[in-house]
Amino acid sequence: MKKLETICIRCPIGCHLVVTEQNGEVVVTGNRCPRGAEYGKQEFTRPMRTVTTIYKMSNGDTLSVRTKGDIEKSKYWDVIKTIKSAPEPKNPQFGDVLVHNILDSGVDVIITAVNKN
Ligand code: SF4
Repeated sequence: MKKLETICIRCPIGCHLVVTEQNGEVVVTGNRCPRGAEYGKQEFTRPMRTVTTIYKMSNGDTLSVRTKGDIEKSKYWDVIKTIKSAPEPKNPQFGDVLVHNILDSGVDVIITAVNKN
């Protein structure tokens, strides 16, 4: 039987979830509210993450960037590689899009800070 134990991160309580598949149905226990059940099912079937990283500019400045939404956890390293190899933006500003629709996920990568050297 496939089983996953994880901590719900949807609120600070951090319920300990146990997720199993029984007769083709994903069952979550340990959650105190429906959001935990939803989170547990997603972690079990298709975990998603927001990706944050640093982009280095040729002048020594760095850009803090993050995906504007969640992407599949399995694509994490491909997303990082795509961000690192993105064309260098001219005059980057907070909120600008560094990469549009990364890996055809429908999610943009945005600049959250410009860190001067
Ligand atoms: S299951 Fe509900 S109460 Fe528990 S951590 Fe998740 S959101 Fe919070």
